[in-house]
Amino acid sequence: MLKVAKFGGSSLADARCFLNVRDIVLSDPARRVVVVSAPGKRHAADHKVTDLLYLCHAHLEYRVPCWDLFRRVRERFLQIRDGCALQTPVGQLLDDIYAGLTPATARDFLASRGEYLAARLMADLLGYEFVDAADWLRFDYAGRVLTEESFAALHTLADGRRIVTPGFYGALPDGAVRTFSRGGSDVTGSLAAAALHADVCENWTDVPGVLAADPRLVPQAEPIARLTYAQLQALSAVGMQVLHESAVEPLRAAQIPLHIRSTHRPEAPGTLIGCPDAGGGADGAVAFAARRGIAMLRLCPVSMEMAEDVRQTVAQAGVSILYSSAGFEQMTLLLEADAAALHRAAEQLARQLPRAQLKLRENLSLLAALQGGKGALANVVAAIQEAGVPVHELTQADACLLMIVNDSQFEAALKAAYGAR
Ligand code: ASP
Repeated sequence: MLKVAKFGGSSLADARCFLNVRDIVLSDPARRVVVVSAPGKRHAADHKVTDLLYLCHAHLEYRVPCWDLFRRVRERFLQIRDGCALQTPVGQLLDDIYAGLTPATARDFLASRGEYLAARLMADLLGYEFVDAADWLRFDYAGRVLTEESFAALHTLADGRRIVTPGFYGALPDGAVRTFSRGGSDVTGSLAAAALHADVCENWTDVPGVLAADPRLVPQAEPIARLTYAQLQALSAVGMQVLHESAVEPLRAAQIPLHIRSTHRPEAPGTLIGCPDAGGGADGAVAFAARRGIAMLRLCPVSMEMAEDVRQTVAQAGVSILYSSAGFEQMTLLLEADAAALHRAAEQLARQLPRAQLKLRENLSLLAALQGGKGALANVVAAIQEAGVPVHELTQADACLLMIVNDSQFEAALKAAYGAR
């Protein structure tokens, strides 16, 4: 049995968090491969180490001294080292990094040092081997992961060993560090699990799984026990932020289940995604995801042939299309952009389709209800309407029912919908 365990920055914020992660890893001998993010925020007003490193780089570029920022990164790593009673030479490593900084230092290299140092410390704390991500995760110059090469390299390096490897970065063909976009340690975790044919990829974070609704709006929102990969992707497409967008595909392709768990509550069951029997749980609505501040554009008449041109015009105006449907001479688009871009797109379309009627509605919210098993969602729609919130549009997209409500009534709609689940 092999479990790849990835720990996010909020689970590695300080020495206490590191010790907690150690207890979690060592409590299960199957957790042989550990992937770590850089230390995150210790409290709401704190900074993530990665943010501090990006800021250092911006200072360097403009030839402004960055010691005050770098010192904060240094102190955080020294506190973790001392709080865990480790001998890892992080002070020396950080001094070497600082001594090498010039205005030409690569941004990706500097940003990656948070993960690098966190992995060095975690390897010492666990008594595992440190394997640098630059030694196995390979990118081409376009920033695409060279999967076969990377998987083969990790296979050789990890081979039956217990290892810690940093998330978020790898190396280009010339050896220079290349990072993923923000939150990319999730991708490293998934790739490591796929490379090693792990039985499960654990993603440890600060929430007890995928919650059925945004807990800031629905405090009683509960974690969802099981989801299919398709359901997770449907929720992500409509705005639920669970994992980095590129983290799901490697696991789905290799059919490796993903287990999202909380380091604050390791005993909680978390959310299990993509298990052979992950049937998507209960009937009716399983979860709600939302996107605030969207717009809806209706055009009529529009032939099917024109629909593609419309999408192109909208995209060229800098507007993202969340959803579009065309049929019966009518086209509906759900859009996300600032007001100026939206109006630019609408004006361009009015010129392009002089015969069409065009109706742009702004200040709306998209509320998506993920359908489980036998998903009758009529009760959810009825509950929203009973709460006095008109539903402007109802559409089925993948496993979700999409509902459009006024932005100002969004919270009332979500609460009513959750209550009717
Ligand atoms: N440390 C990086 C970030 O803050 C990557 C990650 O945490 O996954 O975006």
